[in-house]
Amino acid sequence: MTTIIRVHCPGCSADLTLDPGEVLLTVGPGDATGYRFICRQCQARVAYPANPRLALILRHAGVPILQITDEAITAVPNVADPISASEVLVFSDAIDATDTPQDELT
Ligand SMILES: [Zn+2]
Repeated sequence: MTTIIRVHCPGCSADLTLDPGEVLLTVGPGDATGYRFICRQCQARVAYPANPRLALILRHAGVPILQITDEAITAVPNVADPISASEVLVFSDAIDATDTPQDELT
């Protein structure tokens, strides 16, 4: 049985229902914990912060987890302040450039 995740795109105001595989849970230090997805309607990369309870729910729903490490953050030169949801997108772009083994994160 598959959990459906309802999300809202701030870019085009679409309400979407996604499979867990279409969402990525990002877990990292401080405010880096969140989830992201690509909007089907406008192709926007959307990232939201997630509190620990929501992160747990997403994890149990089978959402893949991307661990954001300090290493990955320092690889992005222009960011010194605490991470906001929009900055998570920057990090994920940087991380997408490398093959991050997600299997060992479960
Ligand atoms: Zn959209």
